[in-house]
Amino acid sequence: MIKEELEKIKQKALNDHIPIIMDDTLEVVDKILREKKPERILEIGTAIGYSAMCFSEYLQKDGKIDTIERDEERVQEARINIEKVGVSEKINIYFGDAVEILPTLDEKYDIVFIDAAKGKYPFFLKEALRMMKPDGIILADNVLYKGYVMSDYNKHKQRTAVRNLREYIKEVTQNPNIETEILEVGDGLAVSRIRKNVCIM
Ligand code: SAH
Ligand code: MG
Repeated sequence: MIKEELEKIKQKALNDHIPIIMDDTLEVVDKILREKKPERILEIGTAIGYSAMCFSEYLQKDGKIDTIERDEERVQEARINIEKVGVSEKINIYFGDAVEILPTLDEKYDIVFIDAAKGKYPFFLKEALRMMKPDGIILADNVLYKGYVMSDYNKHKQRTAVRNLREYIKEVTQNPNIETEILEVGDGLAVSRIRKNVCIM
């Protein structure tokens, strides 16, 4: 992994206003991944590949990340970036809408990182649960969405997103088979640990 290239890519993404994972969020995820040493990671929302490249550091030998992105230009940029950083054998990008791609996947993942359309989080959760290993962890970024989610403000133009993020949080906190913490890092990170030895579906 070429760290200098990764840093350049990060700076360019920030300049281009691409919503890459925030530093304090990444710090938390790093810790979780370091402890977990995942073999398989699924990411929903690649953008230009920044978070996937960061996560690839913590994969087990021969581990792999699958990541999904629907914006063609971003997919192209991500592929170039991943090549530059030297991690292309660890990251597989699916180009297309996750709503269509997820149902076609049938793998088991140690970690799922949800970081795409906020209005689709409940659907992404359902698909993630179907593919989790028994002691897997689901991470969801932006769950507090600038504070809208925990306030009683309902008139915002993003109210569909807010409603669906609330539904996501409700599901992961009330489901007895999942242990969830909502962390106030970055734009809000939900860390949901699947309880071992339970059958979810
Ligand atoms: N995880 C990246 C940032 C992702 S930004 C990082 O931290 O570096 C969110 C991305 O999700 C955007 O590039 C957007 O195009 C993509 N996206 C949003 N909804 C999607 C969907 N339904 N399917 C696939 N990609 C989606
Ligand atoms: Mg995000």
